[in-house]
Amino acid sequence: MTTTTLSGATSTFARADPADVDRWGGKGAGLARMSQQGLRVPPGYIIGTPACRSYLTDKRLPADLVDEIGGRLGELEVAAGKTFGGGPVPLLLSVRSGAPISMPGMMDTVLNLGLCRESAAALGRATGDSHFVADVVARFHAMYAETVLGALDPGAGVAELVAAVRGDEDPAAVYDRVWAACAQALADDTGDRVPADPRDQLLGAVEAVFRSWNTRRARTYRDFHGIPHDLGTAVVVQSMVFGNLSDDSGSGVVFTRNPVTGEPGIFGEYLAHSQGEDVVAGLRTPDPVTAALAPAVLEELRTTCAALERAQGDVLDIEFTVERSTLFLLQVRSAKRTPEAAVRIAADLAADGTAAPGVALRGVSAGQVRQVQRPVFDPAEVAAARAGGRLLTTGIGACPGQVSGALVLDPDRAAALADERGAVVLARSVTSPADLHGMIAARGIVTATGGSTSHAAVVARALGTCCVVGAGELRIDPGARTLRVGDTLLAEGDPVSLDGSTGELFAGSFATATPAAATGALRRLLDLAAAASGCEVLSRVTRPADVAAARESGAAGLVTAIDDVLAATGHLDGLVAHLLEAPAAGADGFERFTDLIAQELTPLLAAAGDLEIGVRAIDLVADESRELLQQTAVTTRHPELAVPLGRLGLLEAQVAGLARARAAAGGGARVHLAVRHVSDPAEARLVRDTAAGSGIAVGAYLTSPRGVLTIEEIAAASEVIWLEVRALQAAMFGLPPRLLLTSEPLDDYLRRGLLSIDPRRRLDPSGGGLLRRAAGVAGSARIGVRLAGEVAEDTVAQLWTLGFRRFAISTPETRPLIVALGRAAGR
Ligand code: ADP
Ligand code: MG
Repeated sequence: MTTTTLSGATSTFARADPADVDRWGGKGAGLARMSQQGLRVPPGYIIGTPACRSYLTDKRLPADLVDEIGGRLGELEVAAGKTFGGGPVPLLLSVRSGAPISMPGMMDTVLNLGLCRESAAALGRATGDSHFVADVVARFHAMYAETVLGALDPGAGVAELVAAVRGDEDPAAVYDRVWAACAQALADDTGDRVPADPRDQLLGAVEAVFRSWNTRRARTYRDFHGIPHDLGTAVVVQSMVFGNLSDDSGSGVVFTRNPVTGEPGIFGEYLAHSQGEDVVAGLRTPDPVTAALAPAVLEELRTTCAALERAQGDVLDIEFTVERSTLFLLQVRSAKRTPEAAVRIAADLAADGTAAPGVALRGVSAGQVRQVQRPVFDPAEVAAARAGGRLLTTGIGACPGQVSGALVLDPDRAAALADERGAVVLARSVTSPADLHGMIAARGIVTATGGSTSHAAVVARALGTCCVVGAGELRIDPGARTLRVGDTLLAEGDPVSLDGSTGELFAGSFATATPAAATGALRRLLDLAAAASGCEVLSRVTRPADVAAARESGAAGLVTAIDDVLAATGHLDGLVAHLLEAPAAGADGFERFTDLIAQELTPLLAAAGDLEIGVRAIDLVADESRELLQQTAVTTRHPELAVPLGRLGLLEAQVAGLARARAAAGGGARVHLAVRHVSDPAEARLVRDTAAGSGIAVGAYLTSPRGVLTIEEIAAASEVIWLEVRALQAAMFGLPPRLLLTSEPLDDYLRRGLLSIDPRRRLDPSGGGLLRRAAGVAGSARIGVRLAGEVAEDTVAQLWTLGFRRFAISTPETRPLIVALGRAAGR
């Protein structure tokens, strides 16, 4: 046995630290973990990623690494009780690449390495089966030629030769014959040869794994997925087990739970009398593991799967081989799963005690929750519609969702028809702030012109409404109330269907459903996440009908805004006109809005019932209000309306209106009114004094760094404070807040390296410092964070870590946020 001083470049499965994935790669770390758990893994060792990096720099294997590989081989011979390149029992190896991040496009595997005349003869004597020897020799030659030497058609004509070999022939002669045929085929093909010496084979395979790190395909993959190019790959060298040895041998792949539905119970495939590559190659059709495995092996596999799940707290994808009825584990990794499965599995793992809640939540993302909760079209109906020519046109998907509804071409009628029929799809050549009430009422919005930052796109994203813009073929005739697309003419009221991801508009409606399997699991997942995070999430609503959806989504409360409510009921324009005409000073005449506000808010407060509801006062300055009303005209004419309390009468009217609505709704509503853009304690005190005696709790929305800097004093005069993260981020970066809701132009800006932080995904460090201060403020004010747009998990995690436990967000993002908070708590 060779003795070498080991530099630590390599490690056996028994010794490698499974947590050190960067060094040992995903595959190596998984094998190390299983071995150390006492599971039956064929012995082997790992060459770490540092060796790969050094090979790629020097373009050759370091001399001490070559020695170390030899030394490990000696240990492996002892551990396996077999001999490399000889007998009585020959040691054959599998050599595999295993990067820290799983990466298709790299060299994967050479099996059966270590064959020469002596070892082939010994293998024949040990198994008594020369047909098996022929099979193994041909497999090795083909895999080495293909994977290491890059040959395209490695084994032409060899299969027939192997098929003709009898079990009782002389194995050495069989080796000579098969090897010669393979070598000839390869020489004809590429002029290359497979080394005859097993040690050269091993070093050749190791080098090939290292080199494969830098193939074009691998580089392209890394560029695409943002994986650094300097990680390097590890190499796993493992003793072979033979699934192709006998009928009670075979290879398979098993998932510890169904990766499509998430259903509990092992799920996998097994091919008797085969090596693992046969399953993947798809030449023979495998059988379900539950039917194909011998009962004892199946039972052991089940127990093993359960033990591995418990140890890793995750659903796993496991490769195994059975050699003469003995189960060997060859690989374990986290299983890829559908969003539906992810939701169900996370809920189940926590419920059945396989994983702690924080660990179970790691397996499901906010994005997956978003996908699962969304009602989707019946795919068969969509396919039939496509085939039947019902796809009318394709624009730019601006906000995802799949909705069917009655076509409407006018915002007033959209609002009216929505009350009457439910789902409507609003089609416009282009939208303007005057369309807002129709856009709020619509389930889907489609425009003929405009890109992904157009008015329609920005408003739809703020509302979370499915939207397609720039569908250039739409011809709307407002007088005739018809929509023409190519040869198709649709009338108002006709059913249409819109896909906000693909940008497609179809004639006719589709059956739409939230995947039924997901809903129960989703409910359990939300409970789990909410309990883990200890947070309350308030959902944004505008119409009384929105409240049920907010409750459904797990909202602990509601938020709304008076200007949104007035817009949805078509009263905002009247208010704006009144503001424009109002005299510059003197009697405001705002009292007449008290009745209107009371009337329009009563149904919403009644619907809220026992849920807390936060109401934002009318804001004439906010960036989004540019979409809501002709704010510029108002604040140009009356500059004093551009400061939060420029006309106290406007606030008084809202306080009075809200108080009246509360009384009309039964008087029990837990409601507060908050004024936006407060940046000074004096403002907060004036808000408090204005509402004194009304029974309405008051507070502030902070949108500026100054507001946050004075939060202690503002809090002293407020019952509720909302921090608007997007506005704060925008202020820190000096960007218009609306840019933080769109992909361009910031995506391009980031690609050009002009911002080191994506303000949509991460908090600026100085902004983070401000927020830390806010989170730390004690006192009676309940401090929450108002989020906009899609949940960014990084930001959510930062906010949770800072100590925030109260949030407000749109209804469609409520579930994703609850789950993101649960994950943040479990990190
Ligand atoms: P992939 O990354 O594509 O799953 P692997 O490196 O896991 O590739 O190996 C491919 C196949 O080789 C697997 O199906 C596995 O069954 C088989 N294999 C790997 N190592 C061994 C071994 N030591 N003995 C027998 N078969 C093996
Ligand atoms: Mg594998």
